[in-house]
Amino acid sequence: MTTVAEKQRVAVIGGGLAGLSAAVNLARHGLAVTLFERSPHMGGRAQTTLKDGYHINFGPHAFYLGGPGHSFLQDLGIETAGSAPPIANAVGFYKGRTPILPLSLGAIFKTDLLSLADKLRLIKLMLRLNSINENDFESLTVNAWIDLDKDLCRAGDALKSFVRALIQLSTYTRDMDKMSARAGLYQLKSAVRNGVSYLHGGWAQLVDALVDKAREVEVTLVAGCEVIEVSRNSQNGEFNVAFKDKTKGLLRESFSGLVIAAPPEVVKMITAAKAMKSGQIPLNLGGDELVDVKAACLDICLSELPRPEMTYSLGLDEPLYYSVHSSAAQLTPPNGALIHAAYYLKHGETGTPQIEKRLEDMVDTLQPGWREKLVYKRFLANITVVHKILSIKDGKLGGYWTEETDEPGVYRAGDWVGVEQLADSSLASAKRSSELLVAHLESARKSSPNSNSNELAYWSEWQGARAQVHE
Ligand SMILES: Cc1cc2nc3c(=O)[nH]c(=O)nc-3n(C[C@H](O)[C@H](O)[C@H](O)COP(=O)(O)OP(=O)(O)OC[C@H]3O[C@@H](n4cnc5c(N)ncnc54)[C@H](O)[C@@H]3O)c2cc1C
Repeated sequence: MTTVAEKQRVAVIGGGLAGLSAAVNLARHGLAVTLFERSPHMGGRAQTTLKDGYHINFGPHAFYLGGPGHSFLQDLGIETAGSAPPIANAVGFYKGRTPILPLSLGAIFKTDLLSLADKLRLIKLMLRLNSINENDFESLTVNAWIDLDKDLCRAGDALKSFVRALIQLSTYTRDMDKMSARAGLYQLKSAVRNGVSYLHGGWAQLVDALVDKAREVEVTLVAGCEVIEVSRNSQNGEFNVAFKDKTKGLLRESFSGLVIAAPPEVVKMITAAKAMKSGQIPLNLGGDELVDVKAACLDICLSELPRPEMTYSLGLDEPLYYSVHSSAAQLTPPNGALIHAAYYLKHGETGTPQIEKRLEDMVDTLQPGWREKLVYKRFLANITVVHKILSIKDGKLGGYWTEETDEPGVYRAGDWVGVEQLADSSLASAKRSSELLVAHLESARKSSPNSNSNELAYWSEWQGARAQVHE
C-alpha cells in the first residue's frame, strides 16, 4: 500500500457511500482526512429509516454481489450480510393479466406469458448471455440492440418487454431508447452471474460499517455542515473549503487535496465564485450535463402479509416493481412485512398521486387486505436513484463524469462518476479518486525534497502548463 510520509490534510465533501469509502481509503494511506456532510446523518441515499422496528431503505435497494463495489468494501474489511430476492413465485403484470414471471427454468416452462418459440429464445439468451461481448454494442441503445439481435428481433412483444424489464430492474433506467446497450448488458450479466442481496437491517448495514471504519482510522466526520465554496489559494496552491457550521457560522479550512463526493449540481454550485476571498482562484470541476434517473417509491410496513407466497412481481407493459424485502432480509419485528414497490420514471416524468394509486392497486392485487395490516407507509414521489444515464455520445459510452478534473489534487466520486452503475459506481469511483489523490500527493512530494514547498512547486509548474495550453 502506498503511504504518504507526512500526514497531509485532505478533505472529502459528501458523506454518502462514495464519500465515506473514499475517506476511509485516504486515511488508510496515512492522510489526515476531514469529511464534511451537509445532513446531520451520514449515508446519503443509502440511509435506512428505523420506524417501530422496521428498517426502511429509501426505496428498494439490492446490493450487487461480485462487482467492484463489493470488492472495494471487502478491501476495506467490510463483509455484507443478506439474502437473495424472494423470486420463487414471481408474477408479471402484462396486458391486464398476472402470468408467471419466467425468472427460472421451471418458471419458463410453466408460464403462459410466452409462446413455445419465445420460451426457447429466452433459454438460448440466458445460455449465451455470458458470451455476449457488450463492448460490441457501444454505439447502440438497448432498444436498437433488441431490434438487431438475430434471435430477439423475431420475438413477440412479451419476450421483448421481459428483456427490457430485466435491464430496467438491474439499472433502474426506463429510457431504453437512451441507455447504451453496452451498459445495460453489462449490468444484466453481472446481476445474473453474481446475484444481488437484500441486506439485513437495510443499507444502514453498509453506512454503519463505513462510519465505524472511518472512526477506526481517525477520519474527522463533520456532520450537519454544508460546504458552500471550494477554491484554490493563489499563493500556496492549497484548497480552501468554506462551510457553514451551525454554531460558529461560516468557517474556512485549508487542505492539500480534495475528493468531492457531493452530487453534480452541488459540484457546480460550490465552484461558482460568488463572494470569493481575494487571493482565491475558482476551480473548474464540472463536466457535461448529466441526466438523473428517478423513481416513485412506495414503502409499506405491515403487521403481517395477507398472502405470504406473493413476494415478487415486475410490470412488463408498465414500469412496475414489487418485492417483499422482509421475505429475504431481517427488516421487521416478528411476523411483520416490509414491501418495496416502485414505478420507474422516464426522463422528464414526475411521480404523481395517480402513480401512487397505481402502486397501491398493484399491492391490492398481490396482497388483498393489506390496508387492514398497515403499520406505516411512505411515498417518495420523485427520488433520484442515480445521477446519470449511461448513454451514447459520439458513438461511444457517455453520460458520466470521470474522477479526474481539470484541477490536479481535486477528484470526483459518486454514482455519476465512471462507467459502473448504481452503488457500484459510487464505491468504484471512490476507490479510484482516493487512490488518484494519494498518487498525486506522493508524486508532488517526490518532485521536491522540501515537503512544505512541494505542493507549491507542483502547482506553479501546472499553472505554467495550463497557461501554455491556453495560449
Ligand atoms: C430508490 C432508490 C433505489 C436504489 N436502489 C439501488 C439498488 O438496488 N442497488 C444499488 O446498487 N444502488 C441503488 N440505489 C443507488 C444508491 O443508493 C446510490 O447510488 C448511492 O447510495 C449513492 O451514494 P453517493 O455517495 O454516490 O451519493 P449520495 O448518497 O447522494 O451522497 C452524497 C452526499 O453528499 C451530501 N452533500 C450534498 N451537498 C453537500 C454539501 N454542499 N456539503 C456537504 N455535503 C453535501 C449529501 O447530503 C449526501 O449525503 C438506489 C437509490 C435510490 C434512491
